[in-house]
Amino acid sequence: MNIAFIGLGNMGAPMARNLLKAGHTLHVFDLNQDVLAELAQLGGHVSASPKNAAAQGELVITMLPAAAHVRSVYLGEEGVLAGIRAGTPAVDCSTIDPQTARDIAAAASRQGVDLADAPVSGGTGGAQAGTLTFMVGASAQLFGQLQPVLAQMGRNIVHCGEVGTGQIAKICNNLLLGISMVGVSEAMALGNALGIDTQVLAGIINSSTGRCWSSDTYNPWPGVVETAPSSRGYSGGFGADLMLKDLGLATEAAKQARQPVILGAVAQQLYQAMSLRGDGGLDFSAIIKAYRN
Ligand code: NAD
Repeated sequence: MNIAFIGLGNMGAPMARNLLKAGHTLHVFDLNQDVLAELAQLGGHVSASPKNAAAQGELVITMLPAAAHVRSVYLGEEGVLAGIRAGTPAVDCSTIDPQTARDIAAAASRQGVDLADAPVSGGTGGAQAGTLTFMVGASAQLFGQLQPVLAQMGRNIVHCGEVGTGQIAKICNNLLLGISMVGVSEAMALGNALGIDTQVLAGIINSSTGRCWSSDTYNPWPGVVETAPSSRGYSGGFGADLMLKDLGLATEAAKQARQPVILGAVAQQLYQAMSLRGDGGLDFSAIIKAYRN
């Protein structure tokens, strides 16, 4: 299949590589020339704009940093909607706010284009291994069309409901993740300060009612989980600035729904202070530094 793929960063590039491996023809576009050169070497066709890429695709996939980029890539003069043929499906895998996803889908629909939101979880490791989870907001018919291609980049392809619901699932999950990492950090640092061995404490938590992913898989205390970013100086993993962006999406959506997100707002402020200290590029579990000397 001819696929237009726009946005080839930490996530998009490995996703695109998996589609090339699966035998698709890719028409790629990014602002970064280096990544375009790398994809060209692997057999991708470099396009001059999102418009040109979309004109050649039987499917359009985008993987961009934030809502402003998604708006400009779809709605700009040289954007996807300026080039795409009516009837061609499109899917945006970026993490953005649900309302922008719905607005762009409405603009696409006026041109006879069905657009889905399908944010992912699983990180760069999942993107490389092709084991991502896709949270898809789309009509049942569009979901059916997208499912086989998404399955070449991911393991769990979940239909969440109509367009926008993929983003809702993603931001609610990351709201909880941001909060739970602060909670585990607070408990681990308190235990250490009071004098218990942190391995013993983590073992108790992980077999007791405090157990969660932030504790048993991604513990922020160095050395507790060998494969966690905390055990390699908080490098790699999921950057604190991306977590800050996702908490901002959750608190903004909550404001529109007049729904309190009290712990989310506190967590957001903690990650914001971390970013101000210059630690926004570290893995988000480095939030534990707020509790340690
Ligand atoms: P990234 O910054 O590494 O990549 C974004 C790419 O988009 C870059 O190559 C950039 O040059 C390109 N780009 C920006 N503006 C563009 C434009 N106007 N036209 C064409 N290309 C443009 O980001 P990432 O880590 O790949 O994340 C992408 C999305 O996935 C984000 O919304 C992020 O929140 C989400 N996400 C990331 C992770 C992760 O672990 N990195 C995990 C899950 C979800």
